[in-house]
Amino acid sequence: MRLRFAPSPTGYLHVGGARTALYNWLLARQSGGSFILRIEDTDLSRSTEEAIEAILRDLRWLGLEWDEGPDAGGDHWPYRQTGRMALYHDAARRLLEGGHAYRCFCSPEELKERRERALQEGRAPMYDRRCLSLAEEEVRRLAKKGRPYALRFKVPEGETVVRDAIRGEITFHNREIEDFVLLRSDGTPTYNLAVVVDDVEMRVSHVVRGDDHLSNTPKQLLLYRALGAEAPAFAHLPMIVGQDGKPLSKRHGDVSVGHYRETGFLPEAMVNFLALLGWSLDDSTTIIDRETLVAGFSLERVTSKPAVWDTDKLYWLNSQYIMAHGDGELAEAVAPFLAREGLIAEDDGEALDKLRRAAPLIRERIKVLSDAVPLLAFLFREVETEAEARELLRGEENREVLREAGKRLLELELFDTGSIESLLRAMAEEMGLKPRKAFQPIRVALTGSKISPPLFESMELLGREKCLQRIARALDQG
Ligand code: GLU
Repeated sequence: MRLRFAPSPTGYLHVGGARTALYNWLLARQSGGSFILRIEDTDLSRSTEEAIEAILRDLRWLGLEWDEGPDAGGDHWPYRQTGRMALYHDAARRLLEGGHAYRCFCSPEELKERRERALQEGRAPMYDRRCLSLAEEEVRRLAKKGRPYALRFKVPEGETVVRDAIRGEITFHNREIEDFVLLRSDGTPTYNLAVVVDDVEMRVSHVVRGDDHLSNTPKQLLLYRALGAEAPAFAHLPMIVGQDGKPLSKRHGDVSVGHYRETGFLPEAMVNFLALLGWSLDDSTTIIDRETLVAGFSLERVTSKPAVWDTDKLYWLNSQYIMAHGDGELAEAVAPFLAREGLIAEDDGEALDKLRRAAPLIRERIKVLSDAVPLLAFLFREVETEAEARELLRGEENREVLREAGKRLLELELFDTGSIESLLRAMAEEMGLKPRKAFQPIRVALTGSKISPPLFESMELLGREKCLQRIARALDQG
């Protein structure tokens, strides 16, 4: 199987695009075939290098490595449409010579006017084929005069049947398909021409893409036939909708893969979640690792019903993956988030070691990796007491707790979790205070917040010296 993902680099990688890429990748890996990345950048006004880079980066982050592509090489280089113009022009010439295409001299203004009139009169706004009947002489005369023209496909009579692996057979009446443009008057190819030429040249065997392209498929089938090429198999993936049933868009929240990467979703969780947008392994399994996805994925189990985006499910899945991470793995995963906030240096071995020891304290408390930042910041910088926690450092009782704790901690022989806990519990009892009442001022003094990882473990991680300094400082300030 030869499959491809063919993004137009006009913006970030959309989660819908990522799902398309994933399904193609899964089928390629499962079958031992090839996964091709092709950049469809013929729309020069909207394509950017930054978008290409962002798409490549996010695909890599998801672990969807390609076998052939702009930076990977392959027998069908280049993998960017702007570098393949000669192929499109050659195909256009063959179509023209074979009588499958004709020159259209209608200007954009004329076309617009006719389209508006058709709409007003309740007719379908299709091209009226005016230029199809131009005499050859006239065509030559206009071309010689330098009148710009587009090249249109001459849609034959009859019906075109799309056999879709997910939706079954869909019949289109050719009379409802307009003579679509192949080459614009500036010589640039349209999507339909370029995509077919490339899929033929790259020997793509299966086209798996979003169902927003379903209406293009009969046009493309007609082009394959006119070019004398065998058409690939098609599968159109169900639309992704928000909870309100409307197509997923920014109104529903973030739709860029980059956002989820930056928030601290794990690529494994994201891949698992995307796989379930329209497909299921069976009727119950939710947590599915990559290997199982590769082995178990099938187009037969992709539904044609819209797939509903569920952010809560994504958070839940992510927390499941975080909980399955070992200490070292979790430390490695959260380190870049702390580095991004300037709390640790990129490759600070000591910090990483501390994070590894802190991993058990946060594993069940975070849903995304960035949640670790506020929880662990106290380990790496001096604390700034949060406004709503300041009262806990004031009042005679709280201050007495801090003084007493400072004194006793200084004398503690072994500064480990167990010893700290016994010491502070004993202290609370002797002072006649409920443990929670006694521990909160200490927590605030050490972490700056009423919410922190478990106190005694945190104290061990912080070390005696820092604990004593912070308690003293809190007393000074309070
Ligand atoms: N460049 C097209 C898109 O981004 C690709 C469609 C296709 O897969 O044929 O929608």
